Amino acid sequence: MSLTSASIPLLGFAAYSGTGKTTLLEKLLPKLTDMGLKVAVIKHAHHNFDIDQEGKDSYRLRKAGASQMLISSRFRNALITETPDEETTCQQLINKLDQTELDLILIEGFKQLPSTKIELHRNEIGKPWIFPEDENIIAIASDLKADSELPQMDINDTDSITQFIVDYVKQHQHKQQSDLSANCDELSPAFLSVSQGRAKILEAITPLNSQSDVSLVESINALAAQDILSPINVPQHNNSAMDGYVICGDDLECESYTVVAEIMAGHSYDRPLQHGEAAKIMTGAPVPENGHAVIMREQATQEGDQVRFDAGKSGIRKGQNVRLAGEDLAIDQICVAKGSRITAPEVGMLASLGIASVPVIAKTKVAIFSTGDEVQAPGEAQKANSIYDSNRFTLTALLQKLGCEVIDFGIIEDSEAALESTLSQASQQADMILSSGGVSVGDADYIKTILDKLGNINFWRINMRPGRPLAFGHIGDTPFFGLPGNPVAVMVAFLQFVEPALRKLQGEDNWQPETFTAIAKEFIRSRTGRTEYSRGIYSINQNGQMEVVTTGKQGSGILRSMSEANCLIEVQPEVESVDIGQKVTIIPLSSRV
Ligand code: AMP
Ligand code: MG
Repeated sequence: MSLTSASIPLLGFAAYSGTGKTTLLEKLLPKLTDMGLKVAVIKHAHHNFDIDQEGKDSYRLRKAGASQMLISSRFRNALITETPDEETTCQQLINKLDQTELDLILIEGFKQLPSTKIELHRNEIGKPWIFPEDENIIAIASDLKADSELPQMDINDTDSITQFIVDYVKQHQHKQQSDLSANCDELSPAFLSVSQGRAKILEAITPLNSQSDVSLVESINALAAQDILSPINVPQHNNSAMDGYVICGDDLECESYTVVAEIMAGHSYDRPLQHGEAAKIMTGAPVPENGHAVIMREQATQEGDQVRFDAGKSGIRKGQNVRLAGEDLAIDQICVAKGSRITAPEVGMLASLGIASVPVIAKTKVAIFSTGDEVQAPGEAQKANSIYDSNRFTLTALLQKLGCEVIDFGIIEDSEAALESTLSQASQQADMILSSGGVSVGDADYIKTILDKLGNINFWRINMRPGRPLAFGHIGDTPFFGLPGNPVAVMVAFLQFVEPALRKLQGEDNWQPETFTAIAKEFIRSRTGRTEYSRGIYSINQNGQMEVVTTGKQGSGILRSMSEANCLIEVQPEVESVDIGQKVTIIPLSSRV
């Protein structure tokens, strides 16, 4: 057993008390930091230590009941956590450290801890060697030669011990790199950037082109399979844009006009207007022949059958407040172009043309399923060690937004036969298959094995966070995406890879997501070498500039971060971190999730 959950090397020191652990560490630390290492120390104390002093504010507040006291100043901060019930484990302590800011964690104390250690030994203490009993000891520093194959150093030679530790850190970093490549080398050695991944995927997608005529309602969110032309003029007739009086266009000079008719919407006045005549007219009602100007009712005074206009002669213009026939759409003009998506304005426009049936690209059928023995369907009492399946539901919502028909294969148990039969059924029924979970390093390998057997699948590590593992390929002719398991990673990977692929499959050419530039209102931590997608909230400040903050904690399992966000903040691989006031790219989510 060894500690696995630190992403950076851990090194402990095994020694009996009196050996001088702290004194040695005190000498090693300046040398290690001189070598460029950022080091944390976790120390175990047996006694009931207290770090802040009686009378200090933090002490008073803690004694008054703060179970966690976080005190900070310009140069340091400290978290004091009261643990009256149970001692914090070393693992929990490790988790509290910000490992992204560290190269090494040194651990002092925690004798029984199953982590890599150096044994410190001094003859004068008169204690036995520890290494024969502890297989986690990897080296010995002593003033006595031990009967062991392990590397040995002089306990007083701090330079050699420093070098040993630096080499250990380097080995660890090196091993981590090669572990990752070995893991993806098994099937395909790909580490890809986001844009490389997307380009490879898009290259492999061929648009479907089966089309069918559907009703207006069914056409919503589908793509038009052909240019749809207007069969009529919109508006059908020249009509009034106001409630008011219509007069002849070249008859703007009279003192007053005789009102000869009242034209309501849906009715008409079928005689041409003569000089000196006006007709009272309602918005939308057809203007009569010769009617070329409408004066709004508020600017008119009618007495008996005579009307005068306050604006006076010069205030009236030919053509004012008259909407011309075909002004919105003329007969045979394209109203919805082939390949465009039919959303509220388009479906409304089609209806306004009297069109009841629309040629659309047939609904894309997408098969989805979840994997993982720990994954349980909502609606059942929660089992021990299980987690409710959210991925199928986020995916369904995302797919519906793109007008897809979802074929839900449920949760597939961790068994080869179940997975194999699901995949082959799905590939026959669907135009695309999406699974979630089971593609990370360390996941049950049979998923990869079966995918590899049934199809032509690449296992990629995308240099992005969240959402690094991604499988993509074809099962038969059907494109397949093996998405990561973590709920946020699923959504981000969908937005970055599946959505562009689906849109291409549906026949939308060269779709590009909308992006904006915003000013970071908070420090955004990132790491070079990968694209980081933080969930963000953008807004417009009083100077009209777009600003963005993160939603807070960015764990890839925290779906709430997605729900609170209105954008993703994209930090490019070459950027280490974003300072307050710097510009960042944001990807708005409102139209996409
Ligand atoms: P995996 O990629 O299978 O290692 O999964 C990564 C994490 O995502 C694990 O914590 C899983 O429990 C979680 N996870 C996997 N599938 C789902 C799912 N369908 N819904 C919610 N969480 C999931
Ligand atoms: Mg899993």
